[in-house]
Amino acid sequence: MKFSDLGLNENTLKAVADVGYTEPTPIQEKAIPEILKRNDVMGIAQTGTGKTAAFTLPMIDILANGRAKALMPRTLILSPTRELATQIAECFQKYGKYQKLSMALLIGGESMVEQQKILSRGVDVLIATPGRMLDLCERGRILLRDVRVFVLDEADRMLDMGFLPDIRRICSHLPNKRQSLLFSATLSPEIEHLARAIVNNPLKITISPDKPTVEKIDQKAAMLESTNKYNFLLELLNSKADTKDFLALVFCRTKHGASKLAKRLNKDGIKADAIHGDKTQSARQKALDKFKNRAITALVATDIAARGIDVKNMNLVVNYDLPDEPETYVHRIGRTARAEADGEAVSICTRDNVKDFYAVEKFIRQNIPLYKDTQYHSESVFEDVQKMRALRAKADAKRQPQPKRVKDKDFSAESLYGERRPTVFLEREQPKN
Ligand code: AMP
Repeated sequence: MKFSDLGLNENTLKAVADVGYTEPTPIQEKAIPEILKRNDVMGIAQTGTGKTAAFTLPMIDILANGRAKALMPRTLILSPTRELATQIAECFQKYGKYQKLSMALLIGGESMVEQQKILSRGVDVLIATPGRMLDLCERGRILLRDVRVFVLDEADRMLDMGFLPDIRRICSHLPNKRQSLLFSATLSPEIEHLARAIVNNPLKITISPDKPTVEKIDQKAAMLESTNKYNFLLELLNSKADTKDFLALVFCRTKHGASKLAKRLNKDGIKADAIHGDKTQSARQKALDKFKNRAITALVATDIAARGIDVKNMNLVVNYDLPDEPETYVHRIGRTARAEADGEAVSICTRDNVKDFYAVEKFIRQNIPLYKDTQYHSESVFEDVQKMRALRAKADAKRQPQPKRVKDKDFSAESLYGERRPTVFLEREQPKN
C-alpha cells in the first residue's frame, strides 16, 4: 500500500514525501481512509506505530476548506503532556507545510496572554493539555462549539494522570455533531467506558504485536547490588563514548533522583540534564532541545516527562530504576528504535526489585538477556532472578492454552516491523454503509 492510495490530497502527499516516508504503517493504512470518510476511530496502538501521523495527515486534508472564527477552533487535540503536545504541533507543521493552517498550543507553563492572542485570531488546530484547556474554556475565553474533529491522544496515560474529570468537562463543551478520534496504547475497561462517552460507532483498530514490545530493540538486563548502580551506569555510558551520535535516555523513578543523577553524571564528565515535572516548561524544553541537538549525551527522565519524547536515532534507553508498572517498560524502551531505527535498552535489576523485573518479563513474555560486559555483575542477584524465572516456567506449563481470536486480516507485506508484522484487528459494533 502506498500513501497515494489512502485518499490524501496532493499537498499532504508532497509533505509526506519530503519527510521521507515511503509506505504507511498499519495504523495509518487503516485509520487515514476512515478519518477522511469522517467516521469515528478508536486506535489501540503502542508508541512508535506512527499513530500521530495517522490522525494529523487526514486532519490536515479535512481542514483544507473553511476558516476558523475568533476563539472558535475547528479541531481540538487533547494530549496528556506538554512535550507530547509540542510534538503533535511539530507534526502539523511538518505535514501541513503546503497548506495554510493556523495553530495554537495551549499548554501549562507557557504565557497565557500569548496563547489567548493567537486564539483570538482564530485557529484551525488547537492542541492542548487538559488543565489549561479547561481553565480557558470555563472562563468563556474559548468556545468549542465549532470543533469538527476532536482527538483524545494517549487516553490511558490521561487516566493514569487523573485527567478523567477534566476530560469529561471539556467534552461537555463540545458539539454533539463532531468527529471523534481516540488513541490509547492499552485497552482497559476504564478506557472502554470513557470511549463510550466520546466516540460514536467507531472503527476500532487494534495494532497488536505478537509480543507487547518493540521487536527491533536489543534488550539486556544487568544484575547488580544496589550500591553499584551508579558505577555501572557510568561504565556503560563511557563504553559508548566512541559511538557516533550517541544519545542515552535514562529513566529514574523520582524527580529528585533524576536531578541528582544528572548532576552526578556531569561531575563525572558525561554531559547530562534532567527532565521531570518539577521543572518549568522552558527548562524542560531547553533540556530536550539540548538532547536533540546533541549538546548533551544523557537525558535523565521520569516517566511522565518522557512520555512522547521522539528523538531521532536515540541509541540507548537505560532503566536505572525499573518502572512500577510493567507496561511502562514497553513505553520506555519504545523511546529508542523509533520507526526504522534500531535501539538498545539496558535495565538494571537489583536485589530489591527482582519482583519488578519478574513482572516486566512476565508482561513481555520473554526473558531479557543478561548484560555481561560489566565488572559489577552480581551472581547472587542473578540467582534470585533465575529462581523467579523457574517458578514462572512451571506456572506457564500448567496453564491451559487460550482460545485464539479470529483475525480480521493479517498483513504480510514488508513493513517497518520487518517480517513479523503486527496483527491488525478491525471491529465496528454496527455496520457502516
Ligand atoms: P508515533 O507512533 O506517532 O510516535 O511515531 C513514531 C515515529 O515513526 C516518529 O518518529 C515518526 O516520524 C515515524 N513515522 C511515522 N510514520 C511513518 C512512516 N509511514 N514511515 C516511517 N516512519 C514513520
